[in-house]
Amino acid sequence: MAKAGKKGREDVFLECSECKNRNYRTSKSTRDATKKLAFKKYCEFCRKHTEHKEKKK
Ligand SMILES: [Zn+2]
Repeated sequence: MAKAGKKGREDVFLECSECKNRNYRTSKSTRDATKKLAFKKYCEFCRKHTEHKEKKK
């Protein structure tokens, strides 16, 4: 295991699955590191709601 981050959280970006822009940033528990986050969010580049998937920095 790599060194534990502050308070067991890590920053992740949410990347639009269509245009690949990183529109959102969030953080999640490192304990959930094996789970990939994916949210339906509005993308201003696609001008619609698209799937946004987690990307590490
Ligand atoms: Zn997009």
